[in-house]
Amino acid sequence: MPIRIAIIGYGKIARDQHVPAIAADPRFELAAVVSPRAPADEGVPVFTSHGALLEKMAGQLDALAICTPPTVRLAVAEAAFEAGLDVLLEKPPAATLGEIEQIERLGREAGRTLFTAWHSQHAAAVPAAREALAGKTVASLAIRWHEDVRKWHPGQEWIWAPGGFGVFDPGINALSIATRILPSRLFVRGAALSLPENKQTPIAARIDFEGEAGRFTADMDWRYTEGERWTIRVEAEDGTTLELLDGGARMVVDGEPRAVEDRGEYPSLYARFAELVQARESEVDREPLRIVADAFLVGRREMVEPFV
Ligand code: NAP
Repeated sequence: MPIRIAIIGYGKIARDQHVPAIAADPRFELAAVVSPRAPADEGVPVFTSHGALLEKMAGQLDALAICTPPTVRLAVAEAAFEAGLDVLLEKPPAATLGEIEQIERLGREAGRTLFTAWHSQHAAAVPAAREALAGKTVASLAIRWHEDVRKWHPGQEWIWAPGGFGVFDPGINALSIATRILPSRLFVRGAALSLPENKQTPIAARIDFEGEAGRFTADMDWRYTEGERWTIRVEAEDGTTLELLDGGARMVVDGEPRAVEDRGEYPSLYARFAELVQARESEVDREPLRIVADAFLVGRREMVEPFV
């Protein structure tokens, strides 16, 4: 019998990626959608709150995919575990480290599967990059994550509110790749956060990681309007250079493009979730969130022009 899954939060990512990935995977069946305000037309029951969903569909659900903004994840996950359901969390898995620890604990106590779904870790070239760097000593890391916030987040106010992450909302995708492919952990030494005068979260950020000064950096910027620059460049001490391009879709090693198999990020995510549910296991990765939290802890703030 397929895993009967409901989507909580019927926004951009739910419609663009989750609905098609669920429809394409016979191990899943979309059972319902929770959308507080926007109409949803997926041919399944629609509810305005997760409470109403869990009450009305008791016994007819196996799992929830939580695709809301981060600040409401804990309440929804807690209710899901109480109802005996498995949980897939969109990235970032929660608004704080304390919340993801609590979600993990509740899932464990309930004996349910919890999956922190970092979609960029499922980009085509990421497994090959991890393999290529295994056992090496990293000599430098340069993350560049530049995009246009107006293009990628039109009308989304939550990204600018406390707990909305600002430029770390996309930037955490880069961190999820870096923490996946690098053979050693990353520690934040310092950060610079550029905050629009009228917003609560950064529009740009630079992180300096532990390591030789200036050689381990992440540069994120939401003010880039010339397309997207989603690149990660790694140099190893043995001279290997590895570049991930297009958000991890392509890889170049020592100047030579490498062929990689593309299963699609979200189909691959759902395949992994199905495996975890079947094995009654969880996969909880907090590393990217830890780095963002540390950047907020030690970051210098500079005010920049208001964002309109
Ligand atoms: P979005 O378009 O603003 O959608 C968020 C949805 O969550 C809205 O439909 C909102 O409904 C709903 N929502 C808010 N509070 C809720 C609650 N308590 N219960 C149920 N639904 C609730 O945002 P998004 O771009 O889809 O992003 C959502 C998450 O996915 C974020 O964590 C983001 O980082 C991640 N993500 C986004 C992208 C992307 O390209 N956009 C890519 C990958 C991952 P109402 O508007 O009706 O209140």
